[in-house]
Amino acid sequence: MSKHGPTAMIAAYIDGQWQQGSTALPSLNPADLRDEVGVFADASKDQVRQAAYAAKAAYKSWAATPAPVRAGMIQNFGRLVEANKEALARVVAREIGKPLREALGSVQEVIDTANFFVSEGRRLYGQTIPSEMPNKECFTYRRPIGVFGCMTACNFPVAVPAWYFIPALVAGNTCVWKPSEEAPLTSYFTTELWARAGLPKGVFNTVFGAGPTTGAAMVELIDEGVFDKIGFTGSTEVGRRIGAACGRALQTPCLELGGKNPMIVCADANIDLAVDGALFSGFGTAGQRCTSLGNLILDEKIHDQFIERLIKRTQTLRIGEPFSAENTYGPMISKRFLDNHLGHLSTLIAAHHELPLGRGGHIGHGVEWAHFDGDAKHGLYARPNIVLNVRMDDAIYSTETFGPLFNVLKSNGIDQAMEMANRHGYGLSSAIYTNDPQTIYKFKTEITAGMSSINNSTTGAEAHLPFGGNGKSGNGGRQSGIWVLDQFTKWHAINWDMSGKLQLAQLDTAYVEPDLNFRIKM
Ligand code: NAD
Repeated sequence: MSKHGPTAMIAAYIDGQWQQGSTALPSLNPADLRDEVGVFADASKDQVRQAAYAAKAAYKSWAATPAPVRAGMIQNFGRLVEANKEALARVVAREIGKPLREALGSVQEVIDTANFFVSEGRRLYGQTIPSEMPNKECFTYRRPIGVFGCMTACNFPVAVPAWYFIPALVAGNTCVWKPSEEAPLTSYFTTELWARAGLPKGVFNTVFGAGPTTGAAMVELIDEGVFDKIGFTGSTEVGRRIGAACGRALQTPCLELGGKNPMIVCADANIDLAVDGALFSGFGTAGQRCTSLGNLILDEKIHDQFIERLIKRTQTLRIGEPFSAENTYGPMISKRFLDNHLGHLSTLIAAHHELPLGRGGHIGHGVEWAHFDGDAKHGLYARPNIVLNVRMDDAIYSTETFGPLFNVLKSNGIDQAMEMANRHGYGLSSAIYTNDPQTIYKFKTEITAGMSSINNSTTGAEAHLPFGGNGKSGNGGRQSGIWVLDQFTKWHAINWDMSGKLQLAQLDTAYVEPDLNFRIKM
């Protein structure tokens, strides 16, 4: 155990102390499974409960700390992340196989989010509101919610947690984080950075562990009433269960779930630009983004020429080592994702589908890729796949595949393209390539997704723009920017009567009646 140094069998960070566990949770480098990145442990239900109670005990004093002082600790965290940017990005690249360039970008997103919310500590504005009575004032205040429990996905192990914890802490909540079991080392270092930012003990707690064990314990504790707010970023399937538990507790969680993101390419589009967009949306991060391209919808007038260029460009993609700047993508995050991807290739492909790049998915295991520099024997690499002739009644049309695979549908004009973009019921991201303002207006008003790009890829986020989805992609909550504050504060309305008598709204209000007998006469 000691081979992993100070992180061996760590299960939790509770009330300012690291705690050990007993069930091993190994983390393997997906580019080379012989490289054990760390061995952590599942936090038990009892440890999760301890973490929640530590957060509860710390809450009152944290909520009473002036918001600019809380925000000063967010600034400290941002500075610490900045000072460790390269090292943290390298841990991400090694632990989940994200290309280093992208890993650096996701650490930058943490810094940007911290920078944005530092000044929010000097706002958190409420309102002064006129009363309908004399000598009376009305106000609103943003109040923190309480203990925030949060479970996060594997593919953005630093940025997505930062989207939650930075605003939650600025707003005065205390936190329990269950990070992804696929990224415990990244989460360990992130917790270390929070620990050094100056937060009082118990304000930020981490419980490591797998979904069915520690994650399930978090959900059981929702029923015990220890959390006041839940955030969940992950699959739609698990999100449904978490939403149901929160419903029983009469809470509204923040659910950020899967996607089946459409990209429409119209007949007038700049084809080369759209091919670039489709390639990065579809294959960037090996398709393992919630915003990855799911359904490419090509107008029939340009379908064949687009596919020809797309195939040619895809064949030139470089795949392999996450640390090589040349590669478009690295390995799948873990064996679970490679297996899912191979499963989709065997169960979701129908007789009428065409796979112009060939069948099969696991590089080095019956599949070769011309521009590959990874270790095929010990790494979890998948080749790109494009599925043509997909129809709206195919299972693959409405299944999030979360791998280097996307569908192509042929549309007959924008009305049919919009139907294809929306019918599957996901509503996270979307894109259109066209230069026609009328078509853009139709797309903007009819798309059901929470985020849309015009002449840009389906992926990408900025720290000050709302991020989130609708339908099967989430319950309408938004992260980032000022909008996320509604997740972490509840509005408190105050009225202050200085009249010295009981004044009843509506009943004692001095409304004046008009002279309704008046008629204009010419
Ligand atoms: P996942 O649903 O398997 O796991 C997410 C988190 O939930 C992890 O911490 C996991 O341990 C936990 N979990 C799993 N099963 C659980 C259970 N039964 N009870 C409680 N907790 C449980 O998701 P993933 O595979 O890590 O990530 C991929 C998914 O996340 C994709 O669907 C992707 O689209 C989605 N995602 C969404 C966003 C977004 O912002 N909308 C961002 C990133 C990823």
